[in-house]
Amino acid sequence: MKLFDTHVHLNQIEDIDGALKRAKEAGVDKILIAGLNLESNRRIIELYNAHKEYNLYPALGIHPFLPEEKTLEEVCALIKSHRDDIAAVGEIGLDYWYKEARKKGEGRDLQRELFTAQLELAGELDKPVIIHSRGAWSDCLSLVREYQLKQVLFHWYTGPVDILKEILNEGFYISLSPSLEYSKDAQAAAKEAPLERILLETDSPVSYKSPGGRYVSEPKDAVRVLKKLSELKEVDEEKVAGIIYKASCTFFNIVE
Ligand SMILES: [Zn+2]
Repeated sequence: MKLFDTHVHLNQIEDIDGALKRAKEAGVDKILIAGLNLESNRRIIELYNAHKEYNLYPALGIHPFLPEEKTLEEVCALIKSHRDDIAAVGEIGLDYWYKEARKKGEGRDLQRELFTAQLELAGELDKPVIIHSRGAWSDCLSLVREYQLKQVLFHWYTGPVDILKEILNEGFYISLSPSLEYSKDAQAAAKEAPLERILLETDSPVSYKSPGGRYVSEPKDAVRVLKKLSELKEVDEEKVAGIIYKASCTFFNIVE
């Protein structure tokens, strides 16, 4: 059984070597490592080059929490210069629940400006995009449609089911995090989407709730998402893992 953790902020993990080793032991064979801003994007490339013994796939982009306008050009240049190394442009998007963007206005305008610039670049380079869309699901969907992107992943999807139906109709994908164990919204998304369009992720090192208390996630925790998904779909784990691994490789244009 092989798993693909499609969303990890490896540069934020404390024990990187240990986490990669534990992931491999748990069957997590491939890991997508996502950048958030100029500094972390540079670090992601360093980590990718330093750990060729693992199957790491970098994604570069500016996250809506870190809308550093002045770095946009440099990040875009970095993306272009690594176009053959990266599996996607990400993590990019909009977040209307974020404090700076709660009220309409400047915060949202800046997020939107950076998001659309990166969508345009992804289209130009013909790369998949990894979208952070919390509280802004509908606007994110409109924009990826407007920029005519074809390979779109709505990461950690917990939005409304009616928007999810539109996302699926477009041929897009969602990913689910360990919050699937307790989030009703994530569970509703898991039930709606076919397995062929669901990817696993941990968003490590995000901390999640568990019956034993909160824990800081690592890529190995993709197994928790698999277990819960198998339970919700009433399909055995091995079969779910096979379908999802294939879907992940298809989405990122990676040879299995
Ligand atoms: Zn993330």
